[in-house]
Amino acid sequence: MKSSNETLILDFSNSRIAFSHLSDSELKKVSWLFYTMNKQWLVDIGAKVGMKAIKMNLPFVEGIIKSTIFDQFCGGTTLLNSEPTIALLANYGVHTVLDYGAEGKDEEQAFNKTMNENRRAIDFSSTNDNVSIISTKISGLAPNSLLKKVQIRKGITWDDLKAYRILLKRIDSICHRASEKGISVFIDAEETWIQDTIDHLVNLMMARYNKSKVVVYNTFQMYRKDSLQKIVDSYNLAKEKGYLLGAKLVRGAYMEKERERAKEQSYPSPIHVTKDATDDAYNMGIRFCLDNLDVISCSASTHNAESNLLMAKLIDEKGIDKLDSRIHFCQLFGMSDAITFNLANAGYRVGKYVPYGAVAEVIPYLIRRAEENSSIKGDMSREYAMVMKEIKRRKLD
Ligand SMILES: Cc1cc2nc3c(=O)[nH]c(=O)nc-3n(C[C@H](O)[C@H](O)[C@H](O)COP(=O)(O)OP(=O)(O)OC[C@H]3O[C@@H](n4cnc5c(N)ncnc54)[C@H](O)[C@@H]3O)c2cc1C
Repeated sequence: MKSSNETLILDFSNSRIAFSHLSDSELKKVSWLFYTMNKQWLVDIGAKVGMKAIKMNLPFVEGIIKSTIFDQFCGGTTLLNSEPTIALLANYGVHTVLDYGAEGKDEEQAFNKTMNENRRAIDFSSTNDNVSIISTKISGLAPNSLLKKVQIRKGITWDDLKAYRILLKRIDSICHRASEKGISVFIDAEETWIQDTIDHLVNLMMARYNKSKVVVYNTFQMYRKDSLQKIVDSYNLAKEKGYLLGAKLVRGAYMEKERERAKEQSYPSPIHVTKDATDDAYNMGIRFCLDNLDVISCSASTHNAESNLLMAKLIDEKGIDKLDSRIHFCQLFGMSDAITFNLANAGYRVGKYVPYGAVAEVIPYLIRRAEENSSIKGDMSREYAMVMKEIKRRKLD
């Protein structure tokens, strides 16, 4: 019998495999979209005008957003109409991590809605073989001001304590449901000024639900100078308390915000000074996780080719089955198809974060994706260059 480790060449420059899920016309549409997003000034205008138009409830704007950037980066407006996206990915060996994409509302009603949506996504996943993980954000379940106050342990009132207990119930109800239904939960990492609160809650959940398998994953942002130590400390805590550690490794999404705040408030920036230092920390984190799979299950959630290759190389060198449930690669839907589909084609366990939700609610997420794909210096974005390579290969130019 063939082992799943028998060599299939992993080549992230293979644009044919990267885009074989797209027809010629779909590919052309994607190239137009990335070309447009590549222009920083267009993204800046689009973000401002789009936000205003959505707030003014202009229906044609929603239609335009839906058929362009929304379709590129989101699975659907609801769980049910995300099914074709989930099925398409599954056809190419890629599973889905469901991500309820609504952001930015700081009110009780929205927090309960997020909790209920997450629970619904878990139930949905338990009936769909191609989804075994959902993701959630603690800031979607409680006010930011509360998370901040709990972190600094100052000025906490009885009402805050009550609100904190409600938050604990919300996150527990999500993790409990996931545990019952055999689904895992990725809990996203956020800004440093609320992350200690998040870590505390996630550690509680891991101690409760990660006894025999990993249900709950914390996220480690490797752009933070203290992240490697945080992984080691989390590993030691899990060992000491007798549970398994779920570790999703990312580089980190809030670099500018973190640096600005540190400057404004005159404390040392928590972020590595250089990209190289972040990259080194990321790759060391991957090595540490793969050296400790007796306790750790790990997701390399990154679009960085070198880090993905390193993880794949270590899996092969260590003779770990490529489909071992303790290892996982993940990219965002609509980005880095070259990495996702080439990993899947070579037999690795890889997924896409697939956000879903009403168009108006996922706008902040869409703006972040557009900004990430724009280019200040005027050079071609990574995504656009790859799409153009395939356009040329198919002779569509
Ligand atoms: C599946 C998935 C889940 C994610 N979940 C989260 C999450 O929960 N929380 C979160 O914060 N982010 C999350 N992200 C986003 C992630 O943190 C990165 O912003 C994004 O993926 C880009 O980093 P990269 O590893 O893909 O690759 P790269 O493009 O190689 O790295 C870019 C990243 O490097 C870092 N960087 C860039 N320049 C410098 C510099 N000068 N000095 C120091 N560091 C620098 C920044 O973090 C930047 O985002 C997620 C990403 C994916 C793919």
